[in-house]
Amino acid sequence: IDNRIFNFNAGPAALPLPVLQEIQSSFLNFDGSGMSIIEISHRSSWFDAVINDAVERTKRLLGLDDGFHVLFVQGGASLQFAMAPMNFLTNGRSADYINTGTWSTKAINEAKILHKNYSVVASSEDKNFSYIPKDISFNKDAAYVHITSNNTIKGTQWHAFPDTNGVPIVADMSSDFMSRPLDMDKFGMVYAGAQKNIGPSGVCMVILKKEMLDLATDEIPTMLRYATYASKNSMYNTPPCFGIYTIQLVLKWLEETVGGLEKMEAHNIAKGKMLYDFINNSDFYRTTAAPDSQSLMNVTFRLPTEELEKTFVEKATARGLGGLKGHRSVGGCRASLYNATTMEAVEALVNFMQTFEREN
Ligand code: PMP
Repeated sequence: IDNRIFNFNAGPAALPLPVLQEIQSSFLNFDGSGMSIIEISHRSSWFDAVINDAVERTKRLLGLDDGFHVLFVQGGASLQFAMAPMNFLTNGRSADYINTGTWSTKAINEAKILHKNYSVVASSEDKNFSYIPKDISFNKDAAYVHITSNNTIKGTQWHAFPDTNGVPIVADMSSDFMSRPLDMDKFGMVYAGAQKNIGPSGVCMVILKKEMLDLATDEIPTMLRYATYASKNSMYNTPPCFGIYTIQLVLKWLEETVGGLEKMEAHNIAKGKMLYDFINNSDFYRTTAAPDSQSLMNVTFRLPTEELEKTFVEKATARGLGGLKGHRSVGGCRASLYNATTMEAVEALVNFMQTFEREN
């Protein structure tokens, strides 16, 4: 596969090559059906097997018992910003939010638009969202505490989750879902737009503790109720079949090829260490996130000048290293090292960075 680049995109992002190859090889005739996965009925036994396998693999990978629903929802992670307060902030209940960047801010904004009660109990805005807040005091009677586990734009990540005195955490894990093992005890809900670690865009995975549905109202439109997805195995209407199928294959790769989330985490730590060690030993490049908050998924860094950053991205692209431009709202550079990014890709990046430093 000579014409594929080293892909450091932030999302949609690199997917495991064996998954793409399997999609390609079965695309015209899925599982002997004589039809493509995008031509079969979602009510067929073929698709049932796909969605059920995706759910089972999710449960095994995360060690979930029957106390959780695994759901597939459209509308991206952005719709979850609204669905969470709509469903759970009923009867005047309030939620605590922690603001660690653009995506948290957007989540807070949806609660506001809906005229829900909420408090922002911590924020890292004072230092340009470059760190994860500590020593937070939470409201005992909050319905949930909302966090963004990995901040895709600012390159920060929660390395340990806060003690919320038993209040369930609702976490936007779009950019680090399935990158490490997760102790779901603390969580009432986890959601993740698929297009970073687990699949294509167009589908958002939601892991929901069943008890959370006790808080949920049915006085909202059908498609916005978690209960609709939970009671119909995410097939009240036509689900995003191709996305769910891709997720199923990625989860199979995670289980059978990688060997589970502990192995995945070790691999991600090794990749992140290689890049951070290199940057930390350089006087030319510098990271933007506080050392104790740096993300293993999105490594954000700067060069001495914006001019050099522009040349860096251009030359990298020409050398087959794609997606290194920082988010348009912050500038600089960003290398996203999601699950499917290989050690070989990180080595190629570090080699390029060394050469670029020498030449400039
Ligand atoms: N949350 C995080 C942490 C993200 O990185 C993104 C997308 N970059 C979103 C939410 C928004 O996701 P979507 O485009 O699926 O709505």
